[in-house]
Amino acid sequence: MNILVLNCGSSTVKFQIIQSDPERLENGSERRLASGLLERIGSQALITFKAEGQTPHKSTAPLKDHRAAIDKILRWIVSPEARIESIRALSDLDAVGHRVVHGGEKFQKSVRIDKNVLAGIEDCIELAPLHNPANLKGIRACQDLLGEGVPQVAVFDTAFHSTLPETAYLYGLPYHLYLRHRIRRYGFHGTSHRYIAFKYGQMMGLEPKDVNIVSLHLGNGCSACAIKNGRSIDTTMGFTPLEGLIMGTRAGDVDPSIVDFLHSKEGLSIGEIDTMLNKQSGLLGVSGLTSDMRELEEEEAHNQDRRARLAIDLFCRRVQKYVGSYLAIMNGADAVVFTGGIGQNSDVVRQRVCANMDWLGLKLDDQKNRTLPRGEGGDISAADSRVKILALPTDEELMIAQDTVRCVAGSTRG
Ligand code: ADP
Repeated sequence: MNILVLNCGSSTVKFQIIQSDPERLENGSERRLASGLLERIGSQALITFKAEGQTPHKSTAPLKDHRAAIDKILRWIVSPEARIESIRALSDLDAVGHRVVHGGEKFQKSVRIDKNVLAGIEDCIELAPLHNPANLKGIRACQDLLGEGVPQVAVFDTAFHSTLPETAYLYGLPYHLYLRHRIRRYGFHGTSHRYIAFKYGQMMGLEPKDVNIVSLHLGNGCSACAIKNGRSIDTTMGFTPLEGLIMGTRAGDVDPSIVDFLHSKEGLSIGEIDTMLNKQSGLLGVSGLTSDMRELEEEEAHNQDRRARLAIDLFCRRVQKYVGSYLAIMNGADAVVFTGGIGQNSDVVRQRVCANMDWLGLKLDDQKNRTLPRGEGGDISAADSRVKILALPTDEELMIAQDTVRCVAGSTRG
């Protein structure tokens, strides 16, 4: 089956076409046929298209909305210049898999989209006002452009965390607020953490129920996940993606009293403080320079910038704190796995997170850590490390394609 995987953000659309054999889903038989990214939708968009084995094609075009962006993708897919193997016409696309950010408590696994599912995703808009509307636009555009005959599947970022126990998802707030407004920890990056659990199990020859790891997704957004017996039992992002680790521009955990204090001292509105916590904090806020870890590492190494170093150190200490607490609630784990742009590529961050963790069983092999080829995965723990340390590239699109095949083929797995 040829699956179009779509990830619609507020002004971006990312896509891949993945070919998958429904009979061999667990065996890694998938092939990536094409991929692309459309940025700055709403104005003069930047477009990158790439068919596998060919050089990327970059262009710009005015794209007024998500529908125009998806129309552009579909026209490229069947155009003579794309030359995508196995795709000659839109009828060669068998299904579409959408990343949907928030599934609330309603969606605990991936589902085939129908009217009820659309209504359910709409109900979750109040929980993810920035993300779910863009996801819905993508779904509606595909319905219009491909027709009702092409099945569509929603894969939720929150679904992997539906196994959190009450003790992990409830806050220490009055209980009626949970009952009245569903205020609780939902967690995000679930598809990435699920992939890491899947990949680790595959690499080690383990059944899913035997996977016990701490997964660290460190990208622009960052979250940690405690995975016990293959299930998420705790995660750092909460009611929204703001909680937990320090991120590119998000503060992560802060004392909520700071909001009222800032309101009175700086005269900021609640909305302005929310923007500050989400967009002007984290690595950017602490360093005063940039939200980009690679740039911070360069500033630290070449210009000895004190605030760049401070931002990296704060970031690493917060990750370390959660690794320690997750190893405690899990009663130990077999591995800590780094992923995301930072986790996969930054030996500096991995080294600082794993420093002084030998009492907990983590010992990094400095040589392996430094020489791990960027973008490639591998084991970077010392031979006598009781807990393995790995860095692996994530692959959310693969999970979305596999789930899409399962839902469309009517299987109940996954
Ligand atoms: P997103 O969460 O938007 O998908 P990514 O997972 O691509 O983002 O992560 C982006 C982060 O990864 C940025 O902070 C970037 O600087 C960092 N990064 C990418 N490559 C490197 C590298 N070689 N060294 C350090 N940081 C890196």
